[in-house]
Order: sequence, then C-alpha cells, then structure tokens
Amino acid sequence: MKYDVIIIGAGPGGIFAAYELMQHRPDMKVAVFEAGHALHKRHCPIDGDRIKTCIGCKTCSIMSGFGGAGAFSDGKYNITNDFGGTLYEYIGKKKALELMQYVDDINMRHGGEGTRLYSTAGTQFKKICIQHDLHLLDASVRHLGTDINYIVLENLYAYLKNKVEFFFDTPVQSVAALEDGYAVRCADEEYTCRQCVISVGRSGSKWMETVCRELKIPTKSNRVDIGVRVELPAEVFSHLTDELYESKIVYRTETYGDRVRTFCMNPKGSVVNENTNGIITVNGHSYEDPARQTGNTNFALLVAKHFSEPFKDSNGYGESIARLSNMLGGGVIVQRFGDLIRGRRSNSDRIRESFVTPTLDATPGDLSLVLPKRLLDGIIEMIYALDKVAPGTANEDTLLYGVEVKFYNMEVEVDEHLQSRYEGLYVIGDGSGITHSLSHASASGVHVAREIVGKH
Ligand SMILES: Cc1cc2nc3c(=O)[nH]c(=O)nc-3n(C[C@H](O)[C@H](O)[C@H](O)COP(=O)(O)OP(=O)(O)OC[C@H]3O[C@@H](n4cnc5c(N)ncnc54)[C@H](O)[C@@H]3O)c2cc1C
Repeated sequence: MKYDVIIIGAGPGGIFAAYELMQHRPDMKVAVFEAGHALHKRHCPIDGDRIKTCIGCKTCSIMSGFGGAGAFSDGKYNITNDFGGTLYEYIGKKKALELMQYVDDINMRHGGEGTRLYSTAGTQFKKICIQHDLHLLDASVRHLGTDINYIVLENLYAYLKNKVEFFFDTPVQSVAALEDGYAVRCADEEYTCRQCVISVGRSGSKWMETVCRELKIPTKSNRVDIGVRVELPAEVFSHLTDELYESKIVYRTETYGDRVRTFCMNPKGSVVNENTNGIITVNGHSYEDPARQTGNTNFALLVAKHFSEPFKDSNGYGESIARLSNMLGGGVIVQRFGDLIRGRRSNSDRIRESFVTPTLDATPGDLSLVLPKRLLDGIIEMIYALDKVAPGTANEDTLLYGVEVKFYNMEVEVDEHLQSRYEGLYVIGDGSGITHSLSHASASGVHVAREIVGKH
C-alpha cells in the first residue's frame, strides 16, 4: 500500500481529519486529494465590474479547494447539537460538543484568537421570541469572519503541508475496495491505501452518490430547504446581532404548519452568489474587519421540505426552482418586500429608489413567479412574525433575494465510527449527509482520525 490513509476532499472535514492524524501519528503516510485549487490559487472571477455573473469555471473556487466550501464563508462555527447536522445521533451529544469545542481550540491556536464567542445562554430574547411564537435555538457561535477564517486556513495548511502529501486539482474518479485496503483512481493514476476517508462535501454530492451505488453502500434520501435571503439595514436586527451575532429562529406557519427558520445571519455583511453544480443561488457572509463591513444585515429564511414516497429527488426539486430563477433573472432575482406584497415585480428604478442599497448586483424581478405559493406564503408569514421582535423586518424596502437553496446530501449509511459497511472506509462531513456546517464537519474529521489511530 502506498499510503496508510487517503483523505478525499480538503474541506473542514478532510483538514481536521489530517490534522488529528498528524497530532497522534506523525509517522503515518497520509495523502489528501482535492478537486479544487490550493488556497492561494482560489479566486472567483466575478468582480462585479467586468465579470458580473458566474462563468462556470472548471472547478468553482468558492466551493472547492483547500478549505472547501467554508473557505470564503463567514466562518461561523456554531457549537451546538441543535442545528448544523446530526453528528450527535452517531457519536452522542456529549462527545459531539467536546469535539466541536476541540475544533474551536485548534482554530484559536491557528490565528482565531481574539475573535468573539457569542452565546444564547441566559439571553432575554428567548422569552421575547416565545411570546411571539418564534423559537430561538441554543448555541455558542464563534464568529471568525471571512478574513480571519482565511488566516486560520493558511496556518492550518502551513502546519500540514510538510507532513501530509497534498494533491490539488486532482479530482478522484472512483474508489474500489481491495482485499486489504482501497484503490483511489484519479485521471491518470491509481493510488492505494489501507484506510480511506471520504469528505467531499456538497460539491461532491453527485460523485458520492455514484460511489455509493458502485460499492452498494445504502443511502437514504434527505430533505431540501428552499427560501430567500433577506437584506435590511443592520439597525433592524442590531439588538439581536450585537448580543448573539447569529440567531437561529424557528417558526411554524399558521397556514400550513411548515417550519420556516432563519439561517446564516450576517450582520453588516454582503449577499453573494453561490454556484452549485452550475445553478446560481444566493448566500451571504461578513467580515470581522470593520473596514470591510456594510450597513446591511442579511440572513436566509428557509422552508424545510421533506418529501414522502414515491418522490425521492428532493435536491432535484430544489434545483428546478433555482433553475427557474436563473431562467427568469439570468441568475439571482432581487425584489422589495413591498413589491412582493403588492403583486408587482421590482424593477431597476424601484430598487434604485429603495432606502436599502443591495450589496449584490442581482436582477430585479418577481419571486412569486419562481417560488411555489406554499413556500412563499410561509416566508411572508415569517417576515411578519419577525417584525414583532425586530420591527422594520416587514418594511417596504426590505430586500429579498431568490432563491436560496440548502441542498442536503443523501445520508450515507455509516456506523457510530462513521465507517461504511466496508472496514476502513469512512464517510464524513457534509458529503455523508450527516453534517451541514463547519463545526460539525470538522468534528467528524477529528472523530474519524481518532478512530483510525485507536484513540477513543
Ligand atoms: C458561501 C458559504 C458560506 C457558508 N457559511 C457557513 C458558516 O458561516 N458556518 C457554517 O457552519 N457553515 C457555513 N457554510 C457551510 C460549510 O462551508 C460546510 O458545511 C462545510 O464546508 C462542510 O465541510 P466538508 O469538509 O464536509 O465539505 P466541503 O467544505 O464542501 O469540502 C469538500 C471538498 O471536497 C472536494 N471534492 C469534492 N469531490 C471531490 C472528488 N471527487 N475528489 C477530490 N475532491 C473532491 C471539494 O472540492 C471540496 O473542496 C457555508 C457554505 C458556503 C458555500
């Protein structure tokens, strides 16, 4: 065998697996294969000036490369079992929290020191939310910010680069089980290893499905979350964001009983495009450095959609809706809340006259032509509910960008060691369908590394 361990994917899951392996067994021969570029070569060509929309690069620098999908994210590490994945169902709540805490400690030792840890413990907002039928979830949130997150990644890479062999711009094509290990096939070479950790994230979801099909690893279909990104003046949510930074608030709609939640809140942040398998959706982030902050706060409002038999393609459903917005708007659509309520499209003049200046150059349009009524009704209901705890949310000029879709990978069948039905073949991070966040994905990497070196 050429390697003791091959890790596929250099996102947080893969990075923390490699880091922990080197902490315990620096003598191990470990290779990391990554479809995207090294960190310093990751550049999205969209500059808002010459190139305004996605040009479909061979590998998307936002989603792929060292640091994975999280590299240019807001760097919010939510230390909680309440959201961000279901790792605790496999390894227990206590251990999951301990691992997330451990990841936070490593981040602090690699450039994150001095960043703020927010917490919902003892906050008055929980009561205020419940009084309005809104439910604030518990979490501690470490906000690194896009800038510090990048520095942490640089430092982690500096630590790993001479200990682990990195293969960038090297997508793995297939994984085959051998008698005493695994063969990992890339475009023009095959590499063998005793144990293999697959951590391919959301961008590797389709590839992961193929691998599971070929190796007959059972999977089950998951859900899809669909909604919009809301952007409003930072003052509207400042009483919440100053204390909690991010508030995860859940609401059950009166009309349909659907659950709508706030997601990925970015105080003084920017709205950005996201490219998932060629489909342009919307996301957001913010910087720790005040000089790079904006006057707006953005967050997503997502409706969770679970499908029952016989329909299985929940991600396909989300993709179709996102495609519709791409078809009408050439990318992301933006609409003023006031226009949506009046049943009219937003146009450039209405957006220009708005008191909220958009931070993303999106196409003014009509989201009611894109989002199914049930989902849109839920979002509108939640905006009015949020208006009670953050007056101003339902203002005419509040901007809604669509669509935001949270695709969930199919859940791969693994045991409490995150090991598939093949001994020594582990599936972790967002690619396993078990985690959906930086802290959970990173924690799953640490867990598997300790499993491999027998340190549990
Ligand atoms: C814009 C944005 C903002 C976000 N903000 C936050 C946030 O603030 N907080 C939070 O908790 N989460 C956030 N997320 C989600 C978070 O980034 C992910 O949950 C996290 O990165 C998952 O880590 P991972 O290692 O499982 O997968 P990923 O980070 O997706 O990494 C997987 C890696 O595998 C590589 N890969 C895929 N297929 C192959 C293959 N066949 N061969 C080789 N390599 C392959 C990919 O190129 C990628 O680099 C954000 C995501 C985005 C896109």
